[in-house]
Amino acid sequence: MPHRPIDLHTHSSVSDGTETPAELVAAAASAGLAVVALTDHDSTAGWSEATRAVVGTGLTLVPGMEMSTRLGMNSVHMLAYLFDPEDADLVAETARLRDSRLHRAERIVERIGADYDVTWGDVLAQSTPGATLGRPHIADALVAKGLAPDRSAAFAGILHWRSGYYEPHEAPSPVDAITLIRAAGGVPVIAHPATRGRDTNISARSFEQLVEAGLMGVEVRHRENTEAGAERLRELALRHDLITTGSSDYHGTGKPNRLGENGTDPEQLARIVEAATGWRPVEG
Ligand code: AMP
Ligand code: FE
Ligand code: FE
Ligand code: ZN
Repeated sequence: MPHRPIDLHTHSSVSDGTETPAELVAAAASAGLAVVALTDHDSTAGWSEATRAVVGTGLTLVPGMEMSTRLGMNSVHMLAYLFDPEDADLVAETARLRDSRLHRAERIVERIGADYDVTWGDVLAQSTPGATLGRPHIADALVAKGLAPDRSAAFAGILHWRSGYYEPHEAPSPVDAITLIRAAGGVPVIAHPATRGRDTNISARSFEQLVEAGLMGVEVRHRENTEAGAERLRELALRHDLITTGSSDYHGTGKPNRLGENGTDPEQLARIVEAATGWRPVEG
């Protein structure tokens, strides 16, 4: 039997993916995945639709989220698996995050609109009501207006953090996010922590602090982690007995990442399931 991939990081239109949760589940089933985790940015709004869609597919769904956090000027993404989606503190914090993302996106668009023909209405037209808004939706508006050929080009140009239009959004520290996720019975795994450039790179010392706060895993196999960075993560994981994962970070047509391009070992998924007390995987 060929090994069916376990892909623990994907996005739907509940955040910045281009497929609805049901479409994403269908795509994961046709891609031959054994397990898919839905990890929209700062939202669990896709869990129920994905749970219904998985019935009869033979696919297992791991409900999750990718929480935005901030360490100084760096954006750090924290994956969270199998937590209680009704935990009051986590619900309040993610609502605050989505709100701060919304106002930050409005301010970015206001600045871009001074130089280019793009409005807030153009951005809303590119998103589902209630979706966690981010630069990808602004990118889609720029593409629709003919101001960029695709999302990636928009990110490399007008939306780049050095473009003069950029600003970060408010977010909790990674330590606070880890504490919230653990209190909600979830398993925190730091997302793509070894990317090139300034984003999401954390020092060894900060890493030790995250482990002390209750970090349980690291996303090692991800297309944006550098080879050297992934090696360093493997060593850190070994030293601290952390779970290691791999994933596609699929965004539908919003990114070139393909479902199952990187996967997680079954033993590592078993550790996540065993550690979680907030929710269970859904077997379809
Ligand atoms: P934001 O969180 O609003 O600052 O936007 C960053 C998000 O945009 C990340 O979650 C990525 O998934 C997405 N993103 C970053 N770079 C790109 C890119 N080159 N093309 C498409 N999406 C991207
Ligand atoms: Fe994203
Ligand atoms: Fe991310
Ligand atoms: Zn992601």
